[in-house]
Amino acid sequence: MQEINSPNARTKEMTDAIATLMEKEYGIFGTLTRLAGENENYLIKTQENTRFVLKLADEDTTSGMIEIEYLAVERLIDAGLEARLPRVIPTKTGEIEARFLTDRGRQLRGRLLEFVPGQAWCDLLPAATKRFENLGRTIARVNIAMEAIVHPDTRRTHHWDLARAQQHRASISLVEDPQRRSILEQVFHSYAAIAMVRFPDLPRSLIHGDINDDNILVDDTLIQGILDFGDCLENPTICDLAIALAYVTLDEQDPLEAASIIVGAYHRVRALSMKELEVLFPLMCARLAVSVIISAKRRRINPTRKSWFVSEERAWKKLAFFADIPPAQAAIRLSSKIELTPYDDRGKPIPELIEQREKCIAPSVTASYATPLKIIQGKGQYLYDYHGRPFLDLYNNVCHVGHCHPRVVAAGQRQMAKLNTNTRYLHDGLTDYAQKLCSTLPRELTTCFFVNSGSEANELAVRIAKTVTGKQDMLVVEGAYHGHTEAMINISPYKFMGKGGKGRPEPWVHVVPLADGYRGTYKGQGKEAGNAYGDEVGKIIQKINRPIAGFITESLLSCGGQVIPPKNYFKTAFAHVRKAGGLCITDEVQTGFGRVGSHFWAFELQEVVPDIVVMGKPIGNGHPMSAVITRREIADRFANGMEFFATFGGNPVSCAIGEAVLDVIEEEGLQAHAREVGHHLIKGLTTLKTAHPLVGDVRGIGLFIGIELVLDRQKLTPGTKEAADMVNRLKNRGILLGTDGPFSNVIKIKPPMVMTLEDADMFLRVLDDELTDMEQTQI
Ligand code: PMP
Repeated sequence: MQEINSPNARTKEMTDAIATLMEKEYGIFGTLTRLAGENENYLIKTQENTRFVLKLADEDTTSGMIEIEYLAVERLIDAGLEARLPRVIPTKTGEIEARFLTDRGRQLRGRLLEFVPGQAWCDLLPAATKRFENLGRTIARVNIAMEAIVHPDTRRTHHWDLARAQQHRASISLVEDPQRRSILEQVFHSYAAIAMVRFPDLPRSLIHGDINDDNILVDDTLIQGILDFGDCLENPTICDLAIALAYVTLDEQDPLEAASIIVGAYHRVRALSMKELEVLFPLMCARLAVSVIISAKRRRINPTRKSWFVSEERAWKKLAFFADIPPAQAAIRLSSKIELTPYDDRGKPIPELIEQREKCIAPSVTASYATPLKIIQGKGQYLYDYHGRPFLDLYNNVCHVGHCHPRVVAAGQRQMAKLNTNTRYLHDGLTDYAQKLCSTLPRELTTCFFVNSGSEANELAVRIAKTVTGKQDMLVVEGAYHGHTEAMINISPYKFMGKGGKGRPEPWVHVVPLADGYRGTYKGQGKEAGNAYGDEVGKIIQKINRPIAGFITESLLSCGGQVIPPKNYFKTAFAHVRKAGGLCITDEVQTGFGRVGSHFWAFELQEVVPDIVVMGKPIGNGHPMSAVITRREIADRFANGMEFFATFGGNPVSCAIGEAVLDVIEEEGLQAHAREVGHHLIKGLTTLKTAHPLVGDVRGIGLFIGIELVLDRQKLTPGTKEAADMVNRLKNRGILLGTDGPFSNVIKIKPPMVMTLEDADMFLRVLDDELTDMEQTQI
C-alpha cells in the first residue's frame, strides 16, 4: 500500500485530532500515516507494532452504512470464509462507530479496523489457474453469506454502483478521442440493452461492491484476504463477480479464458442462471467504462493526482480489446467451463440462412443492408442480432409499445388458447375493442371494419368511397404509399413512379402535389403554404371537372420523406374534395396511436375530421391487423346487400391484442412520453443542424421525425449517397434507421414509443460524431 506523508497545517491539525480520538475512544497510542486511495484512511502503528486502519466517514457515509460494513465482515467470519477480513474493533464503550469533536468543533466519525497484511492481486502477477479458481469460490461464498444480511441502508447508491452505471453515460463527451468515445458508446449501449433490461429478473443481495485487484490479497494460489467493505450495497448479486472479473483479467493475455476459470469455480459454489451469464460481459465492460469516465472527470479536477489514474490505461487497453468481441461470443466463452450455454437457440449461421433464403423466397422480397441482419430477439426499443449485438431500433414503428411487450404477448397467448373464430359469431372482445378504439376518435367516427393489413384497410377505404359516392376518381398525394396490392400500387405514386413502376397513373388516379415546406412550390411561405397547397387540390378537381370518389392522404407523409403538411392544408383540401362530392380518407398507418405526442391521431394536428380513418402497423404491435373506421351513415350506405367478411379481421385474438395495445399506451403514458422524447430529439437534432452543413432540414413532431441530408443548402442538392452511408454507419454503431423521400436522402426516425431520453442522447452523440467523421473524410 502506498503511504503519503504531507505535513501541512491541515494535516497536522487532523493528525492531532485523530491521535486524541484513538486514545479516548480506543485507548490506542501510535503513529499515524494517511493511506492513498479515495477515502480518508489512516494507518495506525502502535509501539508493539500492531497495525490498525482508521477509516473516517465522509458526510455521505451514514451510521447505517458503517453498521452494514460491520455486519458483512462478521457474517463472513461466521460463515467460515477462509480469507482474512478487516474486522471492526469496537470502541471502549462497545460502539462500532467512534465519534469525536475536535478542539475546533469539527465532528469526526469513523471506525477502526484490524489491519490485514498481504500482497494485492495486482502486485503478484501472473496469477496461476488455482488462484483464479480460489477467487471464484471465494466470491461465491461471499455472495451466499451476505445474502442473509437485511438492513434498510443497503438500498444506498454511489458513483461506482454498477446497477446505476447509466449515471455516467452522458459524460462520454468528456473523452476527447472519438475512437475511445465510440468504444464507450458501444459499452453503455450493451449495458443498457443487455444488462439493464435483465436487472428486474436477476437475484439481488447485499454485495461487496468493489472486489478489485487492489482489494484482493493473495499468495501464489490462495486468496488471503478481502479488503474494503465500504462500498457494500444491494445490487444484482452478479455485479460482484463482474467487477472482480473486470479487474483481475486486466493484465491477462486471454482475459475471457481466465475469467471462464473464475466463473466455473464460482458456479460450482453458487449456481449461476442463464440471465446472469448473459449480463456478465456487458457488466464487466461497463465497470471498466465507469472507471475511465471517472478518471476523465477527475482529470478535470486534478490531473496530477496519480493514485486516481492507476488503472486507466490498462482499462482502456482492455476496453478496446473487448469492443471487438460480440456479446454472444463473450457469454459463450465465459460459460465454457460450465454446463450452461448461453445463446444456443440462435438457429442457423447467417451464410447458410442466406443461401436457403435465396432458394425459397422470392427475389423481390429483399433484406436490408449490404450484410443482412439476422435478428433473434426483440425487447422494448431494442433488437438483438445473431451475435448478441443490441440495436437501438429507431425505425420499426410497428412494435409501437415496444418489441414483444409482455402484456400484449400475454393477451394474445391467453386468447389464442381459449378461442379464435370470426365476426360471424358474437364475441365481447370485438365490441369492447371497437368501442375502446372509437373512444380515441372524434365523436362522429363510430363504426368499424376490421381487416389484416394496411393495404387491405386502405383498399377497403377506397372501395367504401367509390361505393358510397358511386364515383371513380381518387386524388392521391405525390410520393405517397398506401399498400402493396394491385389497387393500392395504383394509388401509390411512391410505387408507380418509383423503380419498376409503370409510371403513368390509372386514368381515375390524380396526383396532387406533396405539401412540402422544404422543397415544394410554396416552400418558406409559412401559414400561407397550407392554403396554397390545399388550393392545388382544388385546381386538380377543377381539371377533372366531374364529381369524385375521394381523396386519400397519409396524415403525415412518411415514404414521401417524413413531411409534416403545413397548417390549414387539410382544411382547405378537404373543403375542395367535399364540394366535389368526395370523401376524405386519412391513412394513419404510420402516424396513429399517440406517436405525434400532442394528439392521439395525426390528422388532429390539422383540426379536421376525416370521413374515413385507416389504421394499421402499430394497432397490433406486430400482430397482423388493421381497421377502417367511419361515420355510421357512410357504413350504412356501404351496406348495399353485399356481405363484408374478412376471415381473420376482428377475430378474438386480434381484438385481445388490440385492446392490450390501447391499454399499454394509456397506462404507460406513451403519448406524453413520445411528446417529451420527440421534443428532446428534435431540439438536439436542430442543434446538430447548426454544426453540420450536411443536415439541410430537421422536421417532425413527437416520435415522427425526418433528417434531410443535402450537399448544398441553397440548391438543396440531395445527399442521397450520404444518407445511405449514414444509415450504414449508424447500423455499425448499433442504431437502426432507414432512408426515404423522393431522393432517398431523408433519414426516418419512427421508433417504438418506449425509447428513452438516454437512447435519444446516445443517438445524438453518435450522429454528431459520425457527421463530423463523414464531413472530414469528404474534405
Ligand atoms: N399505408 C402506409 C402509410 C404505409 O406506410 C403502409 C406500409 N408501409 C401501408 C399503408 C401498407 O400496410 P401493409 O404493409 O400492412 O399492407
